[in-house]
Amino acid sequence: MSFEFAPMPDERGYFGEYGGQIVPPELKQIMDEINEAYEQVSQTEAFQQELRLLNADYTGRPSPIYHAKRLSDQIGGAQIFLKREDLNHTGAHKINHCLGEALLAKHMGKTKVLAETGAGQHGVALATACALVGIKCEIHMGQIDIEKEHPNVTKMKILGCKLVPVTRGTKTLKDAVDSAFEEYLKDPVNFFYAIGSVVGPHPFPRMVRDFQSVIGKEARAQFLEKKGKLPDMITACVGGGSNALGLFTAFLEDRDVKIVGVEPAGKGLDTADHAATLTLGSKGALHGFECYNLQDDEGNPLPVYSIASGLDYPGVGPQHCYLKDIKRVDYQSATDEECLDAFMTLSRVEGIIPALESAHAVAYAMRAAKAMPSDQSILINLSGRGDKDVDFVANKLGL
Ligand SMILES: *Cc1c(COP(=O)(O)O)cnc(C)c1O
Repeated sequence: MSFEFAPMPDERGYFGEYGGQIVPPELKQIMDEINEAYEQVSQTEAFQQELRLLNADYTGRPSPIYHAKRLSDQIGGAQIFLKREDLNHTGAHKINHCLGEALLAKHMGKTKVLAETGAGQHGVALATACALVGIKCEIHMGQIDIEKEHPNVTKMKILGCKLVPVTRGTKTLKDAVDSAFEEYLKDPVNFFYAIGSVVGPHPFPRMVRDFQSVIGKEARAQFLEKKGKLPDMITACVGGGSNALGLFTAFLEDRDVKIVGVEPAGKGLDTADHAATLTLGSKGALHGFECYNLQDDEGNPLPVYSIASGLDYPGVGPQHCYLKDIKRVDYQSATDEECLDAFMTLSRVEGIIPALESAHAVAYAMRAAKAMPSDQSILINLSGRGDKDVDFVANKLGL
């Protein structure tokens, strides 16, 4: 499968009014260098072949599409299909962009790869990719997330990366981003900041999307082969938005395919405890780019919350903001309660334990399927597996 650029963003890194490089001039130069290196390196046959081979033999791509027949029958509406990114090596979609970023860092002669992590999934995937490629890795993680995501923390240590606990602010993803960024600024010439989603300054939203777009390219071809037509609806959870764009990109031109991104409504959209950025946010700048934000009157990011650590981010990828404005993608949300229900239902009806992040998309699809006829279909991007969440859920539900 060839690796191509999708048509957006423009040369300044904007998707409509969103994205760009809201960074100091010296960093702008570095970002431009990364963009240039990316454009050159990623189009060489050597890079593409290396990535293709790793995707196949290391990650285990293509990930299958599975017809969740028992779940569909139980709901009694549209047929539900899962794109099984949970079966990837390291258990989620994040390995797709981590391999791409680690390879690029190596090609650029960088000495250390740096990143933040929320649920620990990006950290594990990046530590894995760096071990494979043979480059130093340093991960910043909020103290609250460290306590919640213990197995991932241990994995990162075993994989040989340096783990930096972040104890400031809300001690979650947003503060980890700030902390990792400060370290990066100490030597941006030799360090590579591997952003974990389709966020941050240009070229990251585009680069991460391109590396993830393998999901949708596979899914579109697999679905056509299986069913002889495209799904009526595709859906994915949206934190920063990388697994969603990974699936959506290949379907954007298919006007008959309804596309839905699902945000975390937490304890309810009428409370302060959610991270529904596109649903309730307003335009602003955050972490080097312009996007919808959950912010106070002075433009400071608000504390956000989700039961899924990987979704609690106050901003969102610029391309999602654009896709919302042009109404190509519909953004909905699912609460913690719906997420837990979907988590348990998929586990007990199909024997598949989803990540809490992915369970948001499952929850929405279960709701939507009910209102659709049984000859229609919904394809869910099952972005990751729930091994990391089982203790938390068992505790929560008193199992
Ligand atoms: C990190 C993570 C997400 C959220 O990140 P996106 O960039 O929005 O995809 C979703 N699902 C899983 C399993 C994750 O690990």
